[in-house]
Amino acid sequence: MDFAQLAAMVKEYAPTASQEPLRRAYELAQQAHAGQLRASGDPYIIHPLEVAGILADIHMDMPTLIAALLHDVPEDTDISLDRIRSEFGDQVAKLVDGVTKLERLTEMSAGNREEEEAESLRKMFLAMAEDVRVVLIKLADRLHNMRTLWALSPKQQIRMAKETEEIFAPLATRLGIWQLKWELEDLALRYLDWDTYHQIAELLAERRTEREQYINRVVQSAQELLQGQGIKATVYGRPKHIYSIYRKMQSKGREFARIYDLFGIRVLVTEVRDCYAALGVIHSRWPPIPGEFDDYIAMPKDNMYQSLHTAVLGPEGKIVEFQIRTEEMHRIAEYGIAAHWRYKEGAPKDLEFEAKIAWLRQLLEWQREVADAQDFVNSLKSDVFQDRVYVFTPKGDIIDLPKGATPIDFAYYIHTEIGHRCRGAKVNDSLVALNYQLQNGDRVEILTAKRGGPSRDWLNPRLGFVNTSRAQQKIRQWFRREQREENILQGRVILEKELRRLGLEQMPFDEIARLMGYEGRIDDFLAAIGYGDITPPQIANKAMAEAAKSRATIIPAASAVTSSSSGIEVKGVGNLLTRLAPCCNPVPPDPIVGFITRGRGVTIHRKDCVNVRNITETERLIDVAWGPISQVYPVTIRIETLDRSGLLSEIASIVSAEYVNISAAQVTTHPDRTATLRVTLDVANLGQLSNIMAKIEAIPDVLEAQREVA
Ligand code: MN
Repeated sequence: MDFAQLAAMVKEYAPTASQEPLRRAYELAQQAHAGQLRASGDPYIIHPLEVAGILADIHMDMPTLIAALLHDVPEDTDISLDRIRSEFGDQVAKLVDGVTKLERLTEMSAGNREEEEAESLRKMFLAMAEDVRVVLIKLADRLHNMRTLWALSPKQQIRMAKETEEIFAPLATRLGIWQLKWELEDLALRYLDWDTYHQIAELLAERRTEREQYINRVVQSAQELLQGQGIKATVYGRPKHIYSIYRKMQSKGREFARIYDLFGIRVLVTEVRDCYAALGVIHSRWPPIPGEFDDYIAMPKDNMYQSLHTAVLGPEGKIVEFQIRTEEMHRIAEYGIAAHWRYKEGAPKDLEFEAKIAWLRQLLEWQREVADAQDFVNSLKSDVFQDRVYVFTPKGDIIDLPKGATPIDFAYYIHTEIGHRCRGAKVNDSLVALNYQLQNGDRVEILTAKRGGPSRDWLNPRLGFVNTSRAQQKIRQWFRREQREENILQGRVILEKELRRLGLEQMPFDEIARLMGYEGRIDDFLAAIGYGDITPPQIANKAMAEAAKSRATIIPAASAVTSSSSGIEVKGVGNLLTRLAPCCNPVPPDPIVGFITRGRGVTIHRKDCVNVRNITETERLIDVAWGPISQVYPVTIRIETLDRSGLLSEIASIVSAEYVNISAAQVTTHPDRTATLRVTLDVANLGQLSNIMAKIEAIPDVLEAQREVA
């Protein structure tokens, strides 16, 4: 890339714009970076040129391109921001300043990380509030740095690739900028899982000709069909990206050969009604695959994406995925938020724009309420970048929440007060548990009490009542405002219980307080537990690690036995959700085979199981093997309960859902209609044990579960 190429690219989409300031910016950057080299050995000026080129590719406006050329100037050279302001104006200076601040923070944080990284990400969102173009430049900057990542050390490669996968690619997704998103994802994968990346790339290359010929045939017949029905349409095959294939292999548990929508075809039409007409024509020619149709026109994704998706049984019995959309929808799908700043001559301001980035505004407002940068970044990762689920209010408004959200999350989303007073919920007119996970299309109604506040149980992550950090934050705030005395008292109860549960009663409170960073501030520590800032699993982890250091006897290593209930490898796919079939209970080294269930992962059967022999859909069987056998340890827990029938089997099913064996169980009933159960479990670690005990305690009629200390 040289300046002439950049200028030619810009000329093509902005023929009348003056290129004089662009040239001046290039000259200034060249002069400023003269003599500097990149880690790749290239002259430094290549970098700003490439970054501007990426932005010209998505047709960005002149100030953005100029700022891209100058983005590293004030940081790396002695030319000041004031000079940029006087030569290129306030707008460009602000953009450059925004990018510089971000860059400085990200690079500084390379050493002592997490916290600084969190702070820099927070700054990025603040900068975004000022002008989203800052983030577009940052994304282009990151993309070029990823393209030249080979020049850095392996440690830096992993760090950058991880950050790209966790923050920058999801950010591009949420901003809807497809062109940047897919390349960031593919590049990150290349460094994070080199083997898989190359495996997929090779397989794709191997079948390229065959695939292209097939797609061309389908494109041609689709085109003729649509024409025959009087629908004007552009039809073309679309490339599949490595990362998206990788994700499908992971989430659907399929091998490469079975990821069927390797055949992707796109249909562009002029009018919205043509989308549905085209869909009808395609479905009448090739039978649609049930469950693969999505209407993102009626229900757009929150990054503005609109399209019809379907998959059909195409020629030769191969499955072909179609995306049908209008030209306008396509523009938004490719450029997302960047479409707003695309160079256009004399076009009016896009009034709908603000509404389209409502989620962004909301996020920014919300981040002002969060004091701690790390909290903010966690909420980004959990609430903003996750897959979404779309539900309805009783009035029919659509609300989108992160996948896994519960009625309580919904209530807090609607209004903090409704969250606090939430006591029950109806989904599609039936009562559901408050830890029910909302599904797409659910209609949710919250039942509230007149007064009162949230329950402390809501903050226990093991019970799954709350899955958004927004709701967590609101609940913690509520408890923080409660009487401090009360929090300390509650914190003491929770801490004592957790330690008893772990068999660590002898561990002094001040020692744990010190481990958790509250040295000499026991009351603050207890209060923090009381209002939920510190959770039982956090305590368990710290206490466990400490105990393991000082007393190797916490888990008696001598009595280690081997597990028969975990450690299965699904060939070619890595770790998948697996479950041992209850009909044949395979145990190593039985020969085994996997059966792909609908939605519950893979069930592992013995190869000679009758049920397997009766399976007709043999394409759902996959090769599996026993993985490395993991070590487990017998631990006895004592459970005090009311005496009622069925309890032992409820406990057994909770335990087996955690892939843990019960190696012994003994029940003693008492005259007062209570009972004591002693159950010996083969657990892999104390965290697992602590989880199981919390779940057992949540069973009605169970009074207490704790570890028995010998
Ligand atoms: Mn840069």
